Parts: sequence; C-alpha cells; structure tokens
Amino acid sequence: MLPQTALHPHAPLQHLGAADARWVSGFWGAVTARTREITVPGMWDALRDPAISPGLRNFRIAAGLEEGSHVGPPFMDGDLYKWLEAAIAELELAPDAVLAEAVETVAALIASVQRDDGYVHTPTLIAARHQKGAPALADRFHFETYNLGHLITTGVRHHEVTGSTTLLDVARGAARFLEDLATNKPVELARSAICPSHYMAVIDLYRTTSDEQYLRLAEAFVRVRDDFEGGDDNQDRLPVRDQKVVAGHAVRANYLYAGLADVVAETGDDELRRVLESLWQDVVDTKLYVTGGCGALYDGASPDGDPWQEEISRVHQAYGRAYQLPHTTAHAESCANIGMILWSERMLALTGDARYADVIEQISYNALLASISLDGTAYFYTNALRQVRDLPYPLRMPGDTGQHPVPAPPASDERLRQPYLSCFCCPPNIARTLARFHERAASIGADGLYVHQYGGSSVRFAAPDGRSLALREFSDYPWDGRIEFTVEEAVAGGIPLHLRVPGWSNDASLTVNGEDAAVSAPGTYAVIDREWRAGDVVVLDLPMPVRMLRAHRLAEEATNQLAVQRGPVVYAVESADLPEGVHLEQAALRRGAVLTPVDGALAGTRIVALEGEIAVLPDAASDSLYDDLGTDAVGVAPVRLIPYFAWGNRGPSEMSVWLPVVW
Ligand SMILES: [Zn+2]
Repeated sequence: MLPQTALHPHAPLQHLGAADARWVSGFWGAVTARTREITVPGMWDALRDPAISPGLRNFRIAAGLEEGSHVGPPFMDGDLYKWLEAAIAELELAPDAVLAEAVETVAALIASVQRDDGYVHTPTLIAARHQKGAPALADRFHFETYNLGHLITTGVRHHEVTGSTTLLDVARGAARFLEDLATNKPVELARSAICPSHYMAVIDLYRTTSDEQYLRLAEAFVRVRDDFEGGDDNQDRLPVRDQKVVAGHAVRANYLYAGLADVVAETGDDELRRVLESLWQDVVDTKLYVTGGCGALYDGASPDGDPWQEEISRVHQAYGRAYQLPHTTAHAESCANIGMILWSERMLALTGDARYADVIEQISYNALLASISLDGTAYFYTNALRQVRDLPYPLRMPGDTGQHPVPAPPASDERLRQPYLSCFCCPPNIARTLARFHERAASIGADGLYVHQYGGSSVRFAAPDGRSLALREFSDYPWDGRIEFTVEEAVAGGIPLHLRVPGWSNDASLTVNGEDAAVSAPGTYAVIDREWRAGDVVVLDLPMPVRMLRAHRLAEEATNQLAVQRGPVVYAVESADLPEGVHLEQAALRRGAVLTPVDGALAGTRIVALEGEIAVLPDAASDSLYDDLGTDAVGVAPVRLIPYFAWGNRGPSEMSVWLPVVW
C-alpha cells in the first residue's frame, strides 16, 4: 500500500497535475503544442479586439476605462474566464512572459469591477454605470451563476499556478455572493442555476483553501435546487436523488452531475454516488453518440409522452428519448461533450473504474477534437454526425443559441468551423480542456499509479515515503496500438503500475522487458506489481482491426447502417474522398469489406485513413418523398475514410459517420 496521498478523502484516485504528467511527444504532444502556440494566443487576439469580440471590452466599460454599452450574450464574461483558465494552464506548463502579462492584466481588470458584495457580471455592472436599474438575477438566462462559477475556478487556478491572491480574493467574494443567495434568496439562486459550473467551482475553492464553508456551500446548492420546482430542461423537475434517467439540456446536466461528483468525493455520500453512476450509465447506454457527443436534440419536450401535459417542459439541446440520436441535426454542443469529460473524470476518481476513462477516450479522439480545426484556429458549436447538401430547414448553427439576436445561418452545405462565434462558450472551453488535457493522462491511488490515456506522455510519481516511479511513453497511438513505456527512474521501486486496457480492445498483450505478463480483460486496468529499475520496458500491445459497428435496434436513425472505428478513432466518409459523380447518400459499406489503414496527411496534419471499396447505390430517380426502388445495379467505387475529427478541413463538404450496409 502507498501512503494515503489522496487529498479528496472519498475518491480513491487523484489525477496527476502538470508537475507530474505531461504530453511530451506523439499525438497529444502535437495537440498540446498546437494549443499553446496557436489556439490560446489566437483566442486572446480575438477576445481583446473589440472589432471581433466584446469579451474584454465589456470589462473595460464596466471598469470605467471605456465608454459604451454591453455587447454580446450574457455568458460572455464566463467565456473570458475560461480563456483565462486556459492561459493559466499554459503558464503552469512553461513560462511565457507575454501570456503572463495578459493574464495579470485581465485578473486586475476583473478584480477592479467586483462589487463589494462579491458580484461580478458586466451586463449588470455596465447598466448600473449608466444609471439603469438592472438587478442581479432578474432573468435566469443571464447566466450569472455560470459566470461566477467559472470565475471562481479560474481564480483558484490563478492562485495555484502563480501564487497571486488577486483572483483568489475575487473568487472568495464571488462565493460569498452565492452563499448569500443560498441563504437569503434560494428560489432566485435555484432558478438562475443554468449551466451550473458553480458546484465544481466552490469545491475547487474548498480544496485550495481547506475552508469548510465552501463545502457546506456546495451542499447548500444541492438543497436549494432540490427544493425548487422546475422542469427537465434544467434537471430540476425532480430532486437529484429521485432521478433515474438523464433529461434536458446536456451542458446543464453534465455540469450538474460533474459538480455533484465533486461533492461526493469530499463527503462520501454513497447514495448520491450510486445515483450518479446510474445516470452516467443511462447516458452511455442509451444517449451517447458513437463519437462521444452528448445532447441529441435541438429542442424537444420532456418527459416525452407523459400523459399529464402540465408535467411536460420544453427542453433545449436536450438528451431526448433513449436511442433518439439524429445524425444531421445532432446538437452535441462542444460544451456538452466537454461536460461529459468533466463528469466522467470525476466518476473515474470516485470509482477507479476504467469504463469512465474509456468514455473520456471516446469523446476526446472524436467529438472533442472534431470541435476544433486541424490548424487549431476554428470551432464548431454543434457536432453533427452527418452533413448533406440543400437542406430545406435551418441547422442550429454557431451563434444560434436562441437567446440573443444572431445573424441568419449560412446555407447548410457551408457548415464549417468558425474562428469566432457570436455565442463563444465553446471555443474557450475547448481551449481550457486541451490546455489541461495532461490531467487526464494518469492518476495516483493507494494501490499504485494509473495510466488512463495514451498518446505521448511523461508521467512520474514520488510517494511521501521516498518511493518514486517515472515513465516515458513512446507510441504512435491512436494510429498504432503498440504502447511502450520506459522506466526512467525508480527509487525503492515498488509502485504498482495500472495500465488501462480499453473496452474496445480484444487480444491485448503485455510484456515487461520482453517477457509476457498477465493482461486483464478489456475495460479494466492491467496491473504490474514488481520492483522497478530504470531502463525497464513495458509494452502494451492493443491490436487495432478495423471494426464495423451497428447501433441498438431502437436507434432508428442508424437502422441498417454501420459506423467504422479503428482503435479509439471513429471514421467518416467525406465527399472530397468520393469519386466524381457519386453523392454521399449513394455510398454504402459492404459487410466484410476490406478497409486498409494508410498513413497520410489531411490539411497538413498526419492522419491514418482507411482505404478500400464502397458499394455505390443507385442515385435517386426523383426528389419525391417516396419513389419506386428501380432495378439499377449496385456499383463499386474506391473510397477513403478519414478520422471523424478531421472532417470539414477542406472547405464545404458532405460527410457521414453512419453509412448504409449492403449484405
Ligand atoms: Zn458551448
């Protein structure tokens, strides 16, 4: 047994931070470098340029440094905080004088506008500056608790990385404001708890200050929401402990449950943990896209089909019914997919169960990376699994949240990632998730070091009793399943090593210094418990055959269709890779067709594509809703499938993850 190292008493695993886990090479090394060199500085250039974004200017107006009115959605403050969190993560990884100056400038600016009662929200502060009445929490869609939650988390991270108390003091003030609400205005607080980042936030504050009042505050948030009679859209129709299925807005759901998992990590509330396990499993078993996308519906009603109309509420970017997973109109907001990572990593820490790390992998290599362009400069708000030309209805496009005026959406076949979205919640969320992705690599537990994700890590752990273990991963994962770890340092070397064997993996093998070692079942951790020496080599080999997946019989949109996956990567067909004259809807897979992995590049980024033949179905004879099948023969054509995350990087296109199957 290792000495008790967990700071969180009821979470058996604790992730390793930047001091002990890095992506230094390989796939994630490249993403990490792109995030640092392009995404984070490029986003700062946008946020501080009033011609592009009001993100910084709103604070400058609130501070009296500029004249003007608030511009942008009410959650714009939170978007600046999320960028700040990404920038702080970069400072933790390596010094950067320019970025550090930007961080301190923004931190001081935020601190300068905070009210004495701890409130910060530039729409209200600017209105007050103009002598306009603008009470706090006047409208639940002002997103004040969401903004304050991100402010608190960023303040905590600022203190942890820089040692400064500037934003930590702001975070304490913001928590004081929330505490006053919880005590004196519980209905207003519950009603305004939209996209509730504040549960995670006050637990962050508790962990960094050890001040119990913040843990009590998180518990108060739960009580307040459970007493509120709301609807499924915000998960407050039922008290949390009575919830059996996940419903409603997917960002709100995933943030809420992630925050509650943080509460469980501190309180050991087993009943709440079981509720969260069951809700998480409901998503994974019935509502998660094969890409890891969350929240299928643009809009709907819930509980769907309820006999009592008054029980039904409108739901927005919602999880929808079990197995209701449309492809073209998949909402799968980037923030919802990230929320599922936040929730899953907390469940992983609570349980040590590899299925949570499996889902983090599924989301990361597919929906998460698809939400940012290969060059790290442009973003998707929604993450559809299919794009077709000439749609007769509008798509929910970037910028279209339904909550503020937005430009008319472009034509459907022009859905491309955008460098700036008027609804900018997703891009900085993507940036902070990628900037902190090293925190998903590995954890420490009482029974050893756990490596969850592969793709070029350097991981070390030093136990308080003097034992230590440092590993360097060499792999071409996810393109190749051979993952080699070299022990770079081992002192008094008896720290057991746990390596995740992914749930998708069959016939995995494991060797230590060339000798076979026992490998565990898919979806578990293989454990190597030995006296380590520097130079030891561990090889986990995960065969990566091309797999064809079919969906559950009730997933109607995928009936008689297949999705292709190799390793953790889901593939798609994009029109640029179809022969001239073949439309997307004509492309079909043959059962047993040979698809060969081929090393290549797309838009300057290395990928492994799959090459082979597809069946070409007869083109539709007319544009009628129904028409005769006809007797034309099924043809054959060469095709290249590309990783789903790489689609949409070659201009407007059609694309589909699911393809019909010809038996
Ligand atoms: Zn978003």
